[in-house]
Amino acid sequence: IQSKLPAVPTSIFSIMSTLANEQKAINLSQGFPDFDSDKKLIQLVNKAMLTGKNQYAPMPGIFSLRREISKKMENLYGVSYNPESEITITAGATQAIFTAIAATIKKDDEVLIFKPAYDCYEPTIELFGGKAIAVQLNPEDFNIDWELVRSLISSKTRMIIINTPHNPSGKILSAIDMLQLENILKDTNILLLSDEVYEHIIFDGEIHQTAALFPALAERAFITASFGKTFHNTGWKVGYCLAPKNLMAEFRKVHQFNVFSVNHPTQVALAEYLKTPNNYLELGAFYQQKRDLFLSLIKDSRFEFTPSKGTYFQLLNFKNITDENDFDFAIRLTKENKIAAIPISVFNENKLDTKVLRFCFAKKDETINKAAEILCNI
Ligand code: PMP
Ligand code: GLN
Repeated sequence: IQSKLPAVPTSIFSIMSTLANEQKAINLSQGFPDFDSDKKLIQLVNKAMLTGKNQYAPMPGIFSLRREISKKMENLYGVSYNPESEITITAGATQAIFTAIAATIKKDDEVLIFKPAYDCYEPTIELFGGKAIAVQLNPEDFNIDWELVRSLISSKTRMIIINTPHNPSGKILSAIDMLQLENILKDTNILLLSDEVYEHIIFDGEIHQTAALFPALAERAFITASFGKTFHNTGWKVGYCLAPKNLMAEFRKVHQFNVFSVNHPTQVALAEYLKTPNNYLELGAFYQQKRDLFLSLIKDSRFEFTPSKGTYFQLLNFKNITDENDFDFAIRLTKENKIAAIPISVFNENKLDTKVLRFCFAKKDETINKAAEILCNI
């Protein structure tokens, strides 16, 4: 068979989690919590299952969940998304991203993505005949050079993908960044895919700048979100997509034949759980405590770092430790030191000189303590 994606390897998340399990290493590679979702939310799923919510949900998701998401957007950001026509529940953000790209990208379309980039964007673009155009973030501080962005736009540019807070760097986009992007995109027909799965995991009093807040962005944006990140249940794979009605109509044409609809009982439970805003509003403080604990414990290690501003990831620079490339170092750490992390070169065309690993701190304090002890002895 002639492969449609000849250059695409197995995802680094599968590789590192499999190795971590085999090696019985502390797994700070793939991003997921090692603690459970709130029992109250789990009980709500049980209740939904026991009360017959076990057949297909409506194609765009159950209305009560879409309504609660709409209310959240209104209360938090003062923006309006119509639950009937502008919100669709998806099988995690991954399916939302896949569907938005599938619904809009044609052969030879160009899509700008910022590198290092989360791993699912590029193969999806290529699958539909598009071409990912890499925009390098500043390797020191992960800032965006907006003049560079402007210079890479051509008549073929169909979409730009942004991700804030950013995986893997923990960088967040400022209001000024968003205004720069607005300036570049207004008066064009370029679409925006704004991946905001870590919207509630933001630190140091910063405010999440959703694309929804910027009219010239919102009118062209698919915004993707994930309940897995917000409610500590990545295994449920439930998320959603927001977009203006005309874009959402195209999205749903694909969604209905991609999954048709998403599992029903978790939607019923999530709709109820979202009625208590503290369930997501306290998330930033919760993870900031974990980031601070992790960083305070490794401050005297040989790793160098700038504190993450958002997400549950921390980058650590290991140039003082070894000349190995990040992939080899990550494998050796897992096998010899029993701690697993993600080499970030895989998010950036295998640029092996980056000397940076990504560590997930969505872990019990006890796990963070054990991990830090290992890292201090390297
Ligand atoms: N985008 C980013 C930036 C992510 O980090 C992730 C999950 N790690 C996703 C999308 C996918 O989210 P989900 O698990 O809900 O599919
Ligand atoms: N988003 C998670 C991460 O960045 C993992 C998602 C996955 O396993 N595909 O680690």
